[in-house]
Amino acid sequence: METVNIKINGKEYAVPQGSTVLEAARAAKIEIPTLCYLKDINAIGACRLCLVEVSEGGRPFRMVTACVYPVTEGMEVLTNTPKIMKSRKLNLELVLSNHDKKCLSCTRNTTCELQKLCNEYGVDENYFKGEMNKYEIDESSPIIRDNNKCILCRRCVAVCSKVQGIGVIGANDRGFDTHIASAFETSLGDNACINCGQCIVACPTGALYERDDTAKVMEAIADPSKKVYICTAPSVRAQIGECFGYEPGTDVEGKMVAAIKRLGFDGVFDMNLTADLTIMEEATEFLGRVKNGGVLPMITSCSPGWIKFCEHYYPEMTENLSTCKSPQQMFGAVVKTYFAEKEGIDPKDIIFVSAIPCTAKKFEVGRDGESAAGVPDVDVAITTRELGRMIEKAGIKFRELDDEAFDIPFDIGSGAGAIFGATGGVMEAALRTAAEVIEGKPLEKLEFNEVRGTEGIKFASYKLGDITLNVAVTSGTGNARKLLDDVKAGKVDVQFIEVMGCPGGCVNGGGQPHQPAEVRETVDLRAVRAAVLYNDDAKADLRKSHENSAVKKLYDEYFGEPNSHKAHEILHTHYVKRGVYNK
Ligand code: SF4
Ligand code: SF4
Ligand code: SF4
Repeated sequence: METVNIKINGKEYAVPQGSTVLEAARAAKIEIPTLCYLKDINAIGACRLCLVEVSEGGRPFRMVTACVYPVTEGMEVLTNTPKIMKSRKLNLELVLSNHDKKCLSCTRNTTCELQKLCNEYGVDENYFKGEMNKYEIDESSPIIRDNNKCILCRRCVAVCSKVQGIGVIGANDRGFDTHIASAFETSLGDNACINCGQCIVACPTGALYERDDTAKVMEAIADPSKKVYICTAPSVRAQIGECFGYEPGTDVEGKMVAAIKRLGFDGVFDMNLTADLTIMEEATEFLGRVKNGGVLPMITSCSPGWIKFCEHYYPEMTENLSTCKSPQQMFGAVVKTYFAEKEGIDPKDIIFVSAIPCTAKKFEVGRDGESAAGVPDVDVAITTRELGRMIEKAGIKFRELDDEAFDIPFDIGSGAGAIFGATGGVMEAALRTAAEVIEGKPLEKLEFNEVRGTEGIKFASYKLGDITLNVAVTSGTGNARKLLDDVKAGKVDVQFIEVMGCPGGCVNGGGQPHQPAEVRETVDLRAVRAAVLYNDDAKADLRKSHENSAVKKLYDEYFGEPNSHKAHEILHTHYVKRGVYNK
């Protein structure tokens, strides 16, 4: 690696040629503030918070933006002179001059990157007074956009377009009127937004957030005529600790269950169970397609952001999608059919809540074909962040709680179900079951390491009995786009594909706890969070979906066998060929 020699604040460093001043400073453990910068995604020098002074070739110092300015041999950099601090403060004051400063009730209060910097730089919120833009809040979809709190950093725009390969948002108008919106000012609920929430994760402020459905849940709990049950997705237990000050990658399953029980639900269930049920249905569906000449490659269907993406951008491939409902929807369907019959409860009196890492699941609950008992399978989907807020608001001392266990009869989930939350996890879980069904004997090794890891697109090939099975795993719809284009062009030959809408899978979902860009840059959140799930799997006694006794009981007592007529009616769904111009 070629290096150049530079000085930062008088100290010498050899840094890789081609680095920016920001990268060089951060490598030297000197923090330079940024708002618009996102490593590898958005380096546009727009917010001008990363101002530094540089001198090159002995010329006088001048101010540049560190995120886009390259280092040169002999460069001298100053990162914290009074002139720099004053300029950064002025820029923050300018940002605030057109900002709806309602920090006290803002969803990002205490996690807002703008607020943190204003605090650090002692910014007086009323320094510049004058005309301010006033925008209507877009509440047309689960993704709420409040442009009154937007600082035009364009991080959301870059993620939507470059990472997710979608591009339904951009900067409209110019000058003082510039604002982030969609083409022709369509609202997000009326265009081809897939509700993935990756723009929320990228936003440094409270300009983007998910629809808050927590009041609906609390009202249901307070209604004595309702039975209110909740299930939590595998990756919620791996992340909700971050809402309560735990390091990313801390498994807080027991405390999470204990906290939810204190909110007053009638039952707290483990979604790992219906992840196992999904595998039973999906693996059977796949083997059936292989045997009977069905549409291949079959593509997984448990990620609703991915499903909407496929419906908008690859409508010709909706037949490739597995017809299995997602684990969230299967759970609601099972509770409102099998469980309701068993307990003698009218499904109309059940409110089923799912706690999930995903904003797209808020859209999924209202889809056609998701109401097995004649009422919606799931009534409310709340994100990990919302669940964290509910627990906090209820005054529950999360960190002081002792571990508690999920409630019977839906308390048993396998390690295969747990790894659903990480990219490659669904494929690995399906392979464990498919391999044992095909080969008729227990697997010697349960780990399918080729499909693990955070790489955007992965391929693997397995010989199972007489069948050679070529599979692909991808996450992030931008990667899915590349893979599907190759499949359509005949460049890759696979029979089974796992797609997760969010990069890295659910552990990096749009509803997960906020982490500032600074942390996202230094911690591989996808890997660290996924490690919780793989550890859960490694230490579990039960690691295969088809050995889950609660799932076996469901088939014995109710569904008969996987893909039975009854299973199809209750656990499967259908899709819409939307195209790009339909919502
Ligand atoms: S976006 Fe940040 S600075 Fe603006 S009101 Fe919300 S917390 Fe305060
Ligand atoms: S939710 Fe996803 S598709 Fe919609 S604007 Fe945000 S990043 Fe783009
Ligand atoms: S909505 Fe958020 S991420 Fe997008 S430009 Fe505005 S402040 Fe930046």
